[in-house]
Amino acid sequence: MEIKKILCPTDFSEAAKKAFEYAVFLASSQHAELVLLHVVDQLHGFDNYEILSLTPQEISERMETHAYENMSDILDQIKGSIAIETAVEHGKSSVQIIEKAREVKADIIVMGSHGRTGLSHVLIGSVAETVVRHASCPVLVVKNVDHRSETP
Ligand code: ATP
Ligand code: MN
Repeated sequence: MEIKKILCPTDFSEAAKKAFEYAVFLASSQHAELVLLHVVDQLHGFDNYEILSLTPQEISERMETHAYENMSDILDQIKGSIAIETAVEHGKSSVQIIEKAREVKADIIVMGSHGRTGLSHVLIGSVAETVVRHASCPVLVVKNVDHRSETP
């Protein structure tokens, strides 16, 4: 068995950052390639966004641009120490993550247990849970220290 391709989905939260650090370590020690993915969530039934003078399409485009900017900052931080590729997709986060894992033939998905919502009383977030349930490759869920309980 080999780990040659790692998919790391990020919503740019602290928990996702932790998972990314782990993914970088894994990529480096396994000489694997890392794919960093952000999913811009589809805006459902919010055609009234036009009252903000931006159409849903324009909002999505801006979010995509912003995601690539965030990713390029992340890339700058690791300074070419590993082979890394970035991707931004649109749609339902869990579905796009599972789809991307298939597309790039990921050997493992490394993701955070929580994200931007970060409700500490839930064991893991809904995106993480759906990916764990449905991905066709192993999923490594990295907990944020804040969410680690004292005793089992
Ligand atoms: P919920 O979204 O269910 O309210 P949450 O935000 O705390 O809870 P998740 O969204 O499941 O938790 O986040 C867990 C991990 O899933 C994140 O650390 C990140 O790795 C990944 N993730 C979440 N949203 C996205 C996204 N839009 N694009 C890429 N990865 C994501
Ligand atoms: Mn979330």
